[in-house]
Amino acid sequence: MKILSVNAGSSSLKFQMYEMPEEKVLISGVFERIGIEGSFYTVKLNGEKLKKEVDLPTHKDAFTILIKELMDNNIVESLDDIKGVGHRIVQGGSYFDKTVVVDEDVIAKIDELSALEPLHNPAAIVGIRAAQEVIPGATQTVVFDTAFHQTMNEETYLYALPYEWAKDYKIRRYGAHGTSHKYVSARMNEILGRSNTKLITCHIGNGASISAVKDGRCVNTSMGLTPNAGLIMGSRCGDIDATIVPYMMEALKISPKEMDTILNKQSGLLGISGVSSDSRDVEEGIAKGNDRCILAQKMYVRRIIDYIAKYYVELEGCDAIVFTAGVGENSISTRREVLDGLKVLGVKVDEEANNVRGVETRITAEDSNIPAYIIPTDEELMIARDTYNLSI
Ligand code: ADP
Repeated sequence: MKILSVNAGSSSLKFQMYEMPEEKVLISGVFERIGIEGSFYTVKLNGEKLKKEVDLPTHKDAFTILIKELMDNNIVESLDDIKGVGHRIVQGGSYFDKTVVVDEDVIAKIDELSALEPLHNPAAIVGIRAAQEVIPGATQTVVFDTAFHQTMNEETYLYALPYEWAKDYKIRRYGAHGTSHKYVSARMNEILGRSNTKLITCHIGNGASISAVKDGRCVNTSMGLTPNAGLIMGSRCGDIDATIVPYMMEALKISPKEMDTILNKQSGLLGISGVSSDSRDVEEGIAKGNDRCILAQKMYVRRIIDYIAKYYVELEGCDAIVFTAGVGENSISTRREVLDGLKVLGVKVDEEANNVRGVETRITAEDSNIPAYIIPTDEELMIARDTYNLSI
């Protein structure tokens, strides 16, 4: 059965088509600059990558071209071959604790939640509408970044703000990257050979979050109402004293929107290093002795250690620490520094085992109190799995 996994942004559309249940990727790619001059798309097929420049006024045009590519490359014979389309949604609020089939009520709720996620949720609706028009026979599903975190307790997800804000304004912790935390925690349980586990999953990419997962259910996560909270990220500040916000808005005479841009796009590794939001550039700066890159990395690693320590106490132990996403899978030094910072818990890194990028492996010594693993994440596959299960 052919299942399409899609992620629509305001001007982009990423896709991956699977043969299910074999979980084989048939084709993948991304449409970029939709509705903007200079649009193009890239397709990955049989290990080759093709780039084509083409007019893309709307997401519907992107889907129409996608169908043509699928047919031209003999991946599908007709539209009827595509049984399911799974859409990634960033914010599902308290409405959704699992993947669901799209109907008008579901779309209305995603639309309502656009107030909390003004960039991605509206774009995802455009993507759903376009897919419904172009592939009307397929089951359309929505997979939420927040769903996995819906198992958190009230005392964990509430902020100590006026109690009514949670009900009247939906102000609470929702978390993000849930699809990834769910995927790597399920895989970790497979490796450990049991499901009654206490795991700390570290999704450290450009955006970054850590979750505490007990018996396969999320009990806490570092992101909050929005993905700005928790860890120091590429260009997001993570946890700060909230009072800094009104103070600096007055000092700089800037609007809420301008402040939001600073907190999300000009802070984090970029804000401290002054060099880049990309940890590869920061590592290069460190190699050249750049003091601010050294400082940014120290702060970045400290915050990861703090969250792991916090969740270790909350879980009353830990069976495994998992690293995933761009930095987690690829930055040898970040992983080593984090694990070194946990030596008080008896964690011992295996330098040689850790000297790898992007492969599933254990990176701690045999006698480490807690094992740590790299597990490459695969959010697209999770979307395809859920969609397949709702399409059969
Ligand atoms: P996103 O949050 O955008 O999905 P990713 O999970 O793809 O991010 O992570 C991208 C980040 O991964 C890059 O910005 C970079 O900081 C980091 N990264 C990728 N490769 C390496 C590497 N070889 N060494 C260190 N960091 C890396």
